[in-house]
Amino acid sequence: TQPDPARGAAVKAADRAHVFHSWSAQGLIDPLAVAGAEGSYFWDYDGNRYLDFSSQLVNTNIGHQHPKVVAAIQEQAARLCTIAPGFAVDVRSEAARLVAERTPGDLDKIFFTNGGAEAVENAVRMARLHTGRPKVLSAYRSYHGATAAAINLTGDPRRWASDTGSAGVIHFWAPFLYRSPFHAESEEQECERALRHLEDTIAFEGPATIAAILLETVPGTAGIMVPPPGYLPGVRALCDRYGIVLVLDEVMAGFGRTGRWFAADHFGVTPDLLTFAKGVNSGYVPLGGVAISAEIAATFETRPYPGGLTYSGHPLACASAVATIDAMAEEGIVENAARIGEDVLGPGLRELAERHPSVGEVRGLGAFWAVELVRDRATREPLVPYAATGEANAPMAAFTAACKAAGLWPFVNMNRTHAVPPCTVTASEAKEGLAALDEALTVADRYTV
Ligand code: PLP
Repeated sequence: TQPDPARGAAVKAADRAHVFHSWSAQGLIDPLAVAGAEGSYFWDYDGNRYLDFSSQLVNTNIGHQHPKVVAAIQEQAARLCTIAPGFAVDVRSEAARLVAERTPGDLDKIFFTNGGAEAVENAVRMARLHTGRPKVLSAYRSYHGATAAAINLTGDPRRWASDTGSAGVIHFWAPFLYRSPFHAESEEQECERALRHLEDTIAFEGPATIAAILLETVPGTAGIMVPPPGYLPGVRALCDRYGIVLVLDEVMAGFGRTGRWFAADHFGVTPDLLTFAKGVNSGYVPLGGVAISAEIAATFETRPYPGGLTYSGHPLACASAVATIDAMAEEGIVENAARIGEDVLGPGLRELAERHPSVGEVRGLGAFWAVELVRDRATREPLVPYAATGEANAPMAAFTAACKAAGLWPFVNMNRTHAVPPCTVTASEAKEGLAALDEALTVADRYTV
């Protein structure tokens, strides 16, 4: 496409006049006007092209404008745009089958939603009704969505403004060795202490009051902390011991992001409920859902499930999920994410860490990597304070600007940047991204002690 700055300016002006943006002070934002996108790139109206190392909000696992998915949406639109959730319809049945075939264990019934937060809301509702218990335990350093229960369950600063103070939610600490809440010195110690802390929390809250433990299998926005191998099996065992429902939130980690269909596959753990969204159809049409175990599904076999959505299992969303999952399987996209992580992103980021004093730690797997930026490697003091805004956040703002100047659209959260390109990213694109990060990290280095 030819640059068209006048059109870009008009798009921006109408946006600023009428669009109310998420999570933003409306008068302080300057959204980029996007003209188009393809594969791992998107571009503006001024002739600037960006390598998308954010996958938007870590959802375009299949890249932008995948032709098979675009065609499937077009065909479905011509055939049947919409139908109420109460009917059986081919693309919904097929999407449910394809998801159920890939989810671990006996998670064979799928309740579709429009996105991740609604999936979490419904998973929590199912767990409470199934157990007859009120409370849900979730982790600090987590994100579960912006609706009522989901935001209360979230363990990051986005919760604070919406926190109702309880909503039956108890937060606990999950393992994270680099900033260990347990003062552990090894992964084994961190794992053991995190499990003991969780069991103590269960004991003091009263096991008979706890419906569910909700965890991101690999926490995403909070920092891509891959848990030690024994942690999730340990949580599963605690849930079994106390009759607690295990909910794994795979909204971000699922559908290839970690180099497996689901992150739970790395740990051999089957939850009772698994929430998904984002990568299920790369967000081409809004879709999410809950995969439900046989036992929980049986609770609602003769008793009505008291929840629903006008657009549950929307045909356009389901058609795009079918095409996405088929294309991911046919094109080896999950395997590509695993390979790129092992061969390019992991080694490349670790090499950057050796040369840049601002890099405190690199961690991740697949197409799911975090780079923790610090002022001081010895003390691990973050490059910016927790939840910093304005002037206090200047080092991260400078780093972000440097990425964009180098042609890279980064994912940035607090003192971290995440390398989370589409799972379709090629080795040469990944290397291009690493080169841009290399340039931008020289800017971050200026703020180290
Ligand atoms: N759960 C996790 C792990 C997420 O990363 C997100 C979004 O980033 C959500 C839930 C909420 O999903 P949505 O924004 O589609 O409601």
